[in-house]
Amino acid sequence: MRNIAILGSTGSIGTQTLDIIRKQPGLKVTALSAGRNTKLLEEQIREFHPGLVSVQDEDSAKDLRVRIADLDTKVVSGMDGLLAVATEPASELLVTAIVGMIGLRPTVAAIKAGKNIALANKETLVTAGHIIMPLAKEYGVSILPVDSEHSAIFQCLQGESMNPIDKILLTASGGPFRGRKTEELRQMKAADALKHPNWSMGKKITVDSATLVNKGLEMIEAGWLFSVGADQIEVVVHPQSIIHSAVQYADGAVIAQLGIPDMHLPIQYALFYPERKPLPQEKLDLFALGSLTFERPDEETFRGLALARKAMKTGGNLPTVLNAANERAVALFLQDRIPFLEIAEIIEESMENIPFIEAPDLSQILETEALVYERIDKVEV
Ligand code: NDP
Repeated sequence: MRNIAILGSTGSIGTQTLDIIRKQPGLKVTALSAGRNTKLLEEQIREFHPGLVSVQDEDSAKDLRVRIADLDTKVVSGMDGLLAVATEPASELLVTAIVGMIGLRPTVAAIKAGKNIALANKETLVTAGHIIMPLAKEYGVSILPVDSEHSAIFQCLQGESMNPIDKILLTASGGPFRGRKTEELRQMKAADALKHPNWSMGKKITVDSATLVNKGLEMIEAGWLFSVGADQIEVVVHPQSIIHSAVQYADGAVIAQLGIPDMHLPIQYALFYPERKPLPQEKLDLFALGSLTFERPDEETFRGLALARKAMKTGGNLPTVLNAANERAVALFLQDRIPFLEIAEIIEESMENIPFIEAPDLSQILETEALVYERIDKVEV
């Protein structure tokens, strides 16, 4: 039996993780955390019987305690709650399916408590890869990628440990606005950005896909996971989302991982790594697809990608600035308070104005986040 805790169990990745646990024998839920969706969390508690759960704030905790008054599950809240779930003594693996850099402190705590990490929460690696990766090594824990592209790359690396990566081909669907130009993008609202052509995901990452910031965050994430520089990562727009990414080796061989656009496979691969289990879902049918196509990304229109490359190459706290500015700007865009194109403008402005720190520690990363928020809120709110 593998004991698993999940941060963000009520979200897109969280519910799909529980779907796998529901169907696959050998996995047990020890602890769950959610934000404010206490109704769904109650259902999850009744089905999976975790001993500990955490919610975003005390109001949600009070509501949940009433809902599950007949059960023994302990309810905690806030950052302390996230830390308790992350370090729950019985669990071996923590699935980080929470959105945003709020996942940073719990991930650090989980590593220090010796938990392996199935990492979906890319914002944590983007902002603190230089802390997370050495820490994982020090504590002898694995960081198993859940993001479909990084899972694909990880799968392409199996059995190749003596062969250095020449190049990573990081595929991108292009998002809902692929092919659109700046003039058209001016009109776009949150409702338009949330219509992703291939993937069904949480709101923040869906907007990140529309801006291509998601691909930029993934570039930085890949850099940390696979020890490659920005120049070794080529973003390839592949609208069908069938090739989930590929690795090119010194001899020119390109090894790719293919599958339908569905997160169950990468999540399950991380939960059972290195074992592959049957997955009862639609299989890839190349004949039905007919053809796969590829394009270069339009970085002039979708500036988020170029900004992320700059942040990756510069390092220090610049990826934190990029990420925090993006988190705030996306939240404002989702409330229809800023237009779509302003997301990249806010990121760029923040990157130009927040003081640079070359090797930020955890508290400097969190201070940088607060500074970025403060600056944006002064202008936008
Ligand atoms: P969702 O928005 O669907 O879910 C986020 C989860 O985090 C929910 O359970 C939410 O709780 C919880 N949460 C949000 N804010 C807080 C908070 N302040 N305190 C405690 N809990 C909080 O996100 P996704 O599942 O789409 O994404 C999760 C992570 O996985 C992101 O980092 C994303 O980039 C990454 N990812 C997602 C993919 C996908 O297919 N969705 C693919 C690859 C990576 P509640 O709903 O109860 O408020």
